[in-house]
Amino acid sequence: MIQSTDHARSYYRATANALTERPALGTDLTADVCVIGGGFTGVNTAIELAQRGLSVVLLEARRIGWGASGRNGGQLIRGIGHDVSGFGKYVGEEGVRYLERAGIDSVALVGERIRTHRIDCDLRWGFCELANTPAQFAAFKGEQAHLAALGYAHETRLVGPQDIQQVVGSPVYAGGLVDMGSGHLHPLNLVLGEARLAESLGVRIFEHTEVLELIHGDTVHVRCAGGTVRAASLVLACNAHLEELEPRLSGKVLPAGSYIIATEPLSADLANQLIPQNLALCDQKVGLDYYRLSADRRLLFGGACHYSGRDPADIAAYMQPKMLKVFPQLANTAIEFQWGGKIGITANRFPQVGRLKQYPNVFYAQGYSGHGLNVTHWCARLLAEAIQAGHSTGLDIFSQVPHMTFPGGKALRSPLLALGMLWYRLRELI
Ligand SMILES: Cc1cc2nc3c(=O)[nH]c(=O)nc-3n(C[C@H](O)[C@H](O)[C@H](O)COP(=O)(O)OP(=O)(O)OC[C@H]3O[C@@H](n4cnc5c(N)ncnc54)[C@H](O)[C@@H]3O)c2cc1C
Repeated sequence: MIQSTDHARSYYRATANALTERPALGTDLTADVCVIGGGFTGVNTAIELAQRGLSVVLLEARRIGWGASGRNGGQLIRGIGHDVSGFGKYVGEEGVRYLERAGIDSVALVGERIRTHRIDCDLRWGFCELANTPAQFAAFKGEQAHLAALGYAHETRLVGPQDIQQVVGSPVYAGGLVDMGSGHLHPLNLVLGEARLAESLGVRIFEHTEVLELIHGDTVHVRCAGGTVRAASLVLACNAHLEELEPRLSGKVLPAGSYIIATEPLSADLANQLIPQNLALCDQKVGLDYYRLSADRRLLFGGACHYSGRDPADIAAYMQPKMLKVFPQLANTAIEFQWGGKIGITANRFPQVGRLKQYPNVFYAQGYSGHGLNVTHWCARLLAEAIQAGHSTGLDIFSQVPHMTFPGGKALRSPLLALGMLWYRLRELI
């Protein structure tokens, strides 16, 4: 049973627009679709379904945005998370082109949702990918050319080591690739705004409602302590928090801890010295650094990817040295917030989207591997398309990429992966 149900004590919670609490499910209900999970995946699937005229009940064990969606770095970055060309053997050349387009169009989808529904979430356009080595910087040239070949409509700009201070006031980088079609935002305010939009479309949302059991059939019975929802279709949107609710999916996604600190508000001069163009920034390391300024000029600095299942006892003490390596000028700046969240990692770092073979009325999307802000929204649309129309070409393409199960069983999965990651980190030092 779930113990803590409140939002993490993050900068996001402290600056949330409205943390309206919804009741727990206290009766039996029926709906066309039951969605489990109140993060970006679940809430946006509910929106897309309601917009298509279906009745939806959404069940969230804690609060809307309690999981990764309300805690993340807020970096809205194009792409599905990494180079998708390697998946050509599963999806073909056209499939690769579709995935590359989806990585771009999904950012536009988030921007459009925010604009159309006037969701107040501090959206700012502009992102710079930072190179830790000259070889990484050299590779950015190819990336920029590839974007141009895809017809990318936004400005991209290579920034050499001699000019990098115009983008980031740090001595550690070998260059960058600026992309004005990506950006950053306040993720908790986005998902809270989207939940309000879902309700305005008729979606019934219940918080503090953990789903305890699924009884499969033509009608799925979704059993919770206070009642059961009966629905023709089910969407599992629990990502790194699924645990054993659906054994056919458990073991395909591994929870990995990532951590963020927020400084006190910086003076306009200091903020401008750190990130002169107010871009979102992230580097190329295995456990990458990602950071940006908040609307009230704090530095939000995130990083790490822990597979051990144990969070650092003192996140600020763990993250501050990483921040000071990048920005030594913050040595006397106070840290006012610290928090962590669970990224859902998959073995091939590709999101898992599809329907259960044994129960085709059960759909899922999970495992965005740390790059979910845009992809969740895209997958939500695909799930809704497939449920309403019985078919979605995009969902078929995503689901052609195999959903591998981590080896080692429940007990050994995390330690085995931790060992693998250690190997990659050691390679960075050589
Ligand atoms: C620290 C951190 C930083 C990140 N930074 C970025 C970033 O900058 N950019 C980016 O693109 N991505 C980032 N990500 C990844 C991104 O946040 C996720 O991919 C995305 O939010 C996943 O959304 P989701 O809705 O699938 O899952 P979640 O937001 O985790 O939601 C899952 C929900 O399911 C609920 N649930 C689970 N089991 C049950 C049950 N039995 N009954 C009812 N409810 C249940 C949980 O309570 C939870 O609220 C980051 C992630 C973390 C953790």
